[in-house]
Amino acid sequence: MIKTIRAISLAVMAAGISCWAGEAAAKAPKMKHVVMIGSDGFSAEVVKAHPGQFPNLERMMQDGSYTLEARSVLPSSSAINWATLLMGAGSEMHGFTEWGSKTPEVEPAYVDPEYGLFPGIFGTVRRQMPDAVTGVVYSWDGIGYLFEKAAVDFVRSTQDDDDEATRIFCDFLREKQPTFSFMYISEPDHTGHTQGWMSPEYLKSCQKVDSLVGVIYDCVRENMDMKSTAVIFTSDHGGKGTAHGGKSMNEMQVPYIIVGRGIPANHKIERIVMKYDNAPTIADMLRIEAPEQWYGKSILR
Ligand SMILES: [Zn+2]
Repeated sequence: MIKTIRAISLAVMAAGISCWAGEAAAKAPKMKHVVMIGSDGFSAEVVKAHPGQFPNLERMMQDGSYTLEARSVLPSSSAINWATLLMGAGSEMHGFTEWGSKTPEVEPAYVDPEYGLFPGIFGTVRRQMPDAVTGVVYSWDGIGYLFEKAAVDFVRSTQDDDDEATRIFCDFLREKQPTFSFMYISEPDHTGHTQGWMSPEYLKSCQKVDSLVGVIYDCVRENMDMKSTAVIFTSDHGGKGTAHGGKSMNEMQVPYIIVGRGIPANHKIERIVMKYDNAPTIADMLRIEAPEQWYGKSILR
């Protein structure tokens, strides 16, 4: 009897898991292009609290799969979580532990001799896809310390100017149709720190980010083959009051939205999504191998 119940419950669990993972993995083709859009300090809470207020993120959620419970590593701060998004493992492995880390405060568990950092997605793409075209555009200098610059073809930074960064990034997409590209938007973090997370000003700043995401999403759709292109939107952390770094879910939970052919549309991802799952998911879509040092898992498996 107990065995039967266990067998049934295991079967139900397996069915529940395969409902997302099996289906998506079976259908999601190899992608030729992956575009990752990241916004600093964009909480999941603001999306939950203001349905209908983020037309572009909601469009992406309709077109793809999403969770509003993607979780930060601790502390819920910037550099540590951007490094984790790009490096497939947490701070105890890559060594970046603070909001503005420029060099690892903890000795990395492994340093790629070619790039001098814990292995990240850009070095991994370069090594396994020598002809890949890659790019990073960002509006906060701090991002420049967290990826393998020597592995990237096109690197531009704008001083806190998200509009200019968006223009540069869209021109790059249009001209080069890159294999993997990352666009970093510095808001709404600044507004959160000055006006407070969930303040009316913060909502407005998030809506501005939403409009920039819409510009990029349209640019991707107009210039790249959507049969073999995936687009990701996510953030490093949320916030509470005028700060973040702590352990509340409002600080730790952000949206993770992924769109691409074969990825279920209008689908809420039920599995746990951690920051360190992002780079393995990108590697999976490009059909390249994750470095053995990564412990994150593709969310499509
Ligand atoms: Zn911040």
